[in-house]
Amino acid sequence: MLYHRIEELRVEVQKWKKEGLTVGLVPTMGALHNGHMSLIKKAKETCDKVVVSDFVNPIQFGPSEDFDKYPRTLEADVELCDKEGVDIVFAPSADEMYGEGQRLSNDTLTYVCPPFFYVNTLCGKSRTGHFDGVCTVVLKLFNIVQPNYAFFGQKDAQQVIIIKKMVKDLNVPINIVQCPIVREESGLALSSRNKYLTEEGKKDALVLSRILNNIKTCYEKGITDVLALKETAYSFLTDKHDLEYLEIVDRNTLEAKMIADDESIALIACRVEGVRLIDNIYLKED
Ligand code: AMP
Repeated sequence: MLYHRIEELRVEVQKWKKEGLTVGLVPTMGALHNGHMSLIKKAKETCDKVVVSDFVNPIQFGPSEDFDKYPRTLEADVELCDKEGVDIVFAPSADEMYGEGQRLSNDTLTYVCPPFFYVNTLCGKSRTGHFDGVCTVVLKLFNIVQPNYAFFGQKDAQQVIIIKKMVKDLNVPINIVQCPIVREESGLALSSRNKYLTEEGKKDALVLSRILNNIKTCYEKGITDVLALKETAYSFLTDKHDLEYLEIVDRNTLEAKMIADDESIALIACRVEGVRLIDNIYLKED
């Protein structure tokens, strides 16, 4: 059930397809936690067969980001997937994905470039090229696995919006399923990067969900002016928090808003103990 090679995976998936079975793909970078597991459970409910990809994609990390130290726990991941009834864990090497010895740059490789308006905002502002790397690897995984469904978390809201846009614009015949954010009881959104935090850092990180919940409460009380809503955050922040952005935008198009409405999403990125954390909330739940 653990495959490292594209060809091996293809042979297996083609067999399923011939039998008329539906296939779900859950793309991950591994270090699986309950957030990932919720996607896997949804995939199991929706599809006959489930493939989980487990690949720390080098081309979505900037030169000063944490690619080298990103947690890699393949053995434990496979065990978790096994328990959940995943059919295949696909864990290719970078050489397998991009070609042996291939220089990982858009000078020499074909990249997928999502639209400027979707990228030049929120996480894309500080992470130049990140979403090109994400879309490129996701489209490659789509072509390799050819699933009927693919599952993504709202935790990475900008990512899932951009992937939906790519699928629409490039006529990719795959249904994208968005799954809700899974949190610790404390409110902290689960993330593989939480592993970098100390216990104290985890407490300081609660500020992200507190700020977002407070914005939602204020919105429910009738405050719709985006500047006023954003202002409410400042009383939560201390010198332990390095705020990168707090924005309220349209949850489908990422368009900035002056006045919040039921289609708005509040998103935050903030560093705690040097760890970059993100979170978001719909001002009105579905
Ligand atoms: P990653 O391994 O961080 O690339 O995440 C793989 C997938 O899991 C993405 O679609 C994420 O949005 C999703 N994911 C990560 N954390 C959570 C979470 N706390 N709740 C729901 N989905 C999540």
